[in-house]
Amino acid sequence: SPLTKASSILIVGAGTWGCSTALHLARRGYTNVTVLDPYPVPSPISAGNDLNKIVELGSSSSDDENETFVTRALLDAATNGWLYDPVFAPYYHDTGYIVAATTPEGRRHLDEREDASEATGFEQLTTAADFRKTMPEGILTGDFPGWRGWWKRKGAGWAHARKSMESAANEAKRLGVHFVTGSPEGEVKRLLYEEDDVKGAVTADDKEHRGDRTILCAGANSNALFDFRGQLRPTAWTLAHVRMSPDEAKLYRNLPVLFNIERGFFMEPDEDDSDLKICDEHPGYCNWTTDAMGTRTSTPFATHQIPKEAETRVRGFLKEAMPHLADREFSFARICWCADTPDRSFLISKHPDYPSLVLGVGGSGHGFSYIPAIGGFISDCMEGTLDHRIAQSFRWRPETAVGRKWDDLQERFGPDGSNRVMDFQSITEWTTTGPNL
Ligand code: FAD
Repeated sequence: SPLTKASSILIVGAGTWGCSTALHLARRGYTNVTVLDPYPVPSPISAGNDLNKIVELGSSSSDDENETFVTRALLDAATNGWLYDPVFAPYYHDTGYIVAATTPEGRRHLDEREDASEATGFEQLTTAADFRKTMPEGILTGDFPGWRGWWKRKGAGWAHARKSMESAANEAKRLGVHFVTGSPEGEVKRLLYEEDDVKGAVTADDKEHRGDRTILCAGANSNALFDFRGQLRPTAWTLAHVRMSPDEAKLYRNLPVLFNIERGFFMEPDEDDSDLKICDEHPGYCNWTTDAMGTRTSTPFATHQIPKEAETRVRGFLKEAMPHLADREFSFARICWCADTPDRSFLISKHPDYPSLVLGVGGSGHGFSYIPAIGGFISDCMEGTLDHRIAQSFRWRPETAVGRKWDDLQERFGPDGSNRVMDFQSITEWTTTGPNL
């Protein structure tokens, strides 16, 4: 049926992209928008339910003309949201960004792919002393062995992830979007197929939710709800928190993000619990099973623990940068799922066979920073007005996943021994941090 502002729109997933899409549709005047999720916002399994995420504003350069346009369009729209949209601006902190690497290969990647150079507004950091003086004395006490990097003082930083997502959901609700959350009533079991089209979704209580359009935004779990023909690889990363004392929390304010692409990253402690989050860096974990036909599937699961080897990496990163924190007990840990496409570009597209189905997936490790804007592009896609260059980059592209190399590093790095995609099936030792789920 032709799309009108009164059409019923069903969004599957109230995570990062689902909340953004709900907000953008409501702002465009859609009056019949429903969002389904097995959990109320913030869902404990949403990749966006996190203290903080790295955000880079501004523009980037590339040799590919289309890519430059697409990258710029997305960055400009997101930047506008972080700086001027009252729903998101309170949660963005322009504290600067330090990006570093250790090996020659890692450094090459920094200069080429991360586009860090003086021309793009970065200052070079070559010695341990250079790194230490990027923060107040007493924070970066490490030796930074082999580290080389770049510091951008403005135009990058971090956003409070959970609060940005809640803010988007609250504004969407205020504008009339209906959230059906909790299990079974919000948990989608399957899409509703009728007349060669998708006409909504069926939840775990066997209720049919009909939609003139259905937008699938279930993150890594989308792969279980629709056949993506290999375009999504659910992959998990690991994070841990250490708790700071009130005095420490005062010292650790307004810090630039510190990211070594082969070691890990941290941002300043959060304002509520003074928890400092650390992610160890690696090419990710899958949870592989192989069926009788030989098809490999990585299936997400939730736990508030991380593999012991990830704990060792977190502590290894701390030893190099902040050794005084390296032995501190974790106050929290979890694995967090994303979904990588083969080229790590987003997948925002109608489906060629199901005209009423819109796909908004494929965060590929960098999908949070676009929360202010991504729902606008997904809405454009639904309305058929998405710029053709963006539509081309983010199209349904199963041909790119034929014979997919499932163990491809996808341009990610880890320290020695973990510079590979790892498999949860072979992990026997886990942390025992705090309460589990
Ligand atoms: P999610 O936010 O995960 O949302 C999926 C939603 O679907 C959830 O709410 C879930 O409850 C719901 N759902 C699941 N199953 C069902 C079902 N059956 N029915 C209905 N709903 C369902 N990006 C950055 O830009 N900067 C960063 O610094 C950064 N750091 C990251 C660090 C880690 C450790 C990880 C894992 C990711 C990071 N990312 C970062 C990537 C970013 O978090 C993701 O790209 C983004 O959050 C993905 O959003 P999403 O909406 O696709 O998925």
